[in-house]
Amino acid sequence: MKTNRKLTLSREEMKTYGYKVVDTIVEHFDTQHTKNPFSTASRAEMDNLFLEEAPEQGSDPHDVLDFVTEKVLSEINIASHPKFYSFVPGPSNYISAMSDTLATGFNVFSGGWVASAAAAELEIITINWLLKLFKFPVKKGGGIFTSGGSMANLTALVTARRQKCGDDFSKAVIYMSDQTHSSNIKAIRTIGFRKDQVRIIPTDLEFKMSFNKLKNAVARDQLAGLQPLCIIANAGTTNTGTVDDLREISKICKAENMWMHVDAAYGGGAILSEKGSKALRGIEKADSVTIDPHKWFYQPYEMGCLLVRNHKWLSATFSEKPEYLRDIEGNESEINFYDHGVQLTRRFRALKFYMSVKTFGLKSFREAVSYNIELAEKTEALIRKSKNWEVISPATLAVINFRYNPIDKNLSEKELDAINQKISHNVTNSGEAVLVTTLLQNQVVLRMCLINPRTSIQDVKDTLNLCVSYVQE
Ligand SMILES: *Cc1c(COP(=O)(O)O)cnc(C)c1O
Repeated sequence: MKTNRKLTLSREEMKTYGYKVVDTIVEHFDTQHTKNPFSTASRAEMDNLFLEEAPEQGSDPHDVLDFVTEKVLSEINIASHPKFYSFVPGPSNYISAMSDTLATGFNVFSGGWVASAAAAELEIITINWLLKLFKFPVKKGGGIFTSGGSMANLTALVTARRQKCGDDFSKAVIYMSDQTHSSNIKAIRTIGFRKDQVRIIPTDLEFKMSFNKLKNAVARDQLAGLQPLCIIANAGTTNTGTVDDLREISKICKAENMWMHVDAAYGGGAILSEKGSKALRGIEKADSVTIDPHKWFYQPYEMGCLLVRNHKWLSATFSEKPEYLRDIEGNESEINFYDHGVQLTRRFRALKFYMSVKTFGLKSFREAVSYNIELAEKTEALIRKSKNWEVISPATLAVINFRYNPIDKNLSEKELDAINQKISHNVTNSGEAVLVTTLLQNQVVLRMCLINPRTSIQDVKDTLNLCVSYVQE
C-alpha cells in the first residue's frame, strides 16, 4: 500500500476488506468444531514467524489480512470449541461478536452521558436487567461493565473500602476461602492492602468456606482491635462450582457491619435457570456481586460486570471532578459511567449484551444454562456407572471433577496422580480436546467445565473414550 497520511481506504476497498473479515469470522463460527482447540508454540517458533521491525512501508491490506488469518488466528486456543472443557470456556455467540464489531466500527466512547447518551442508556438498561435477575433493588441498585471479573472484583473492593473505612484502612481485614479466585488476592494487593490484612479460611469437604472457622477468625480479629471489613463469598468456585453458604455469610456481615462481596464471575450465569438460581440463594443479600458475562452469559471477551445494592456507593468512590470534564456532567439520572469505575474512556460493552438478549431472548439463554447444568449431571451419571472412573466433586453448576480409578486395579494415590496427569497431557496434546487437571484435596483430578451450549453428551463420551485409550497405551 502507498503511504497514506489519512489512514483511509476507499469505499470499495473498505467493503471488499470488510466482507472478507466477516467471511473469515463466519467460516470460523461454522467450522470451529472441526478444528484443533489446543495450540501450543514456543517463543522461538513464534519469533520465527512474526519477529520484525515495525515496517516503514505498508503492504497490501489483503496480504496482511491473509497472513493474520493463516498464521495468527490459527495459533490460538479455541475457547468456544465444544471440546474445550478446561479453565472457563468462552462459548461466545455470533450476534455479540458482530455487536462488538459495530461498537468498534463506530468507535463509541462509553464514558459519559453527554458523550454518548444512547450508550450510557443501554448500559443502564442492561444493568437493570441484571439487577432484576439477581433480585437486587433496581431503582437504588447500580453497576458497571468492566473488562472482566478481575476488574469487577477490584472495583468492588475499592468501593467496600471507601464505604467502610474512608481513608484509613490500616486495620481492615478481608476474609475469603482457600477456593477463592486469585484475582481477589491480586486486587487486594494491587489496591495497597498488606498481606497480613487477608484471612484465607479453609474449606470443608465440599469446598465451602468453613463457617465455624470464618466466625472464629472474625471474632479474633475483633478482639485484637482490628476492623473486619469484607467477606468475599464464592458463588461458583472456578475449581468445583461450589457456592458458599451465602445466607449465613450475609447474617454475619450484617451482625458485624461488614461488606458482603460475592464473586459470581464463574457461577453468575446460573441465575438464569431454575436449578442454578436455587443454588445461588442468598446472593440477593450481597452488597456487591461480580459477574462475568464473557463466561456463562455467552458474551465474547471482554465483558465483566459489577452489581451493587446502591449505585451511590460507586459514584461516591470513583467521582473526581476535573475541570476539563465540567461540560459533560449532566444531571443525576444521566449516569456518567466514568464516575462509577476506574476507566474514563470505555468501549461500548453494553451493546453486545443488549443485542444478543434482544435477538435470542432471555428464554434462549435460560435454556442454554439449564442445558449446561444438565449436561454436567448427565456426565456425572455416566462416570458413576463406569468401572474406570471415579467422581471426585459432583456436577455443580456445570463443573465436574473426576479421575481415572478402575475398580479392579487398586492403584496407589501416587499412581493415580501420575496416570491422570498423563491422560490430561495426552488428550490435550492430541489436539482433540482441552482437558487439564486441577488439584482437589491433594489429588490430581480431571475437571470439565461444561458451559458451552453446543457441547453434546456425545462429545463428552468421545472424550472419555479418548482418555481411556491413552491409559491402555
Ligand atoms: C474467571 C474468574 C475471575 C476472573 O475473571 P476474568 O474475567 O478472568 O478477569 C474471578 N473470579 C472467578 C470465580 C472466576 O471464575
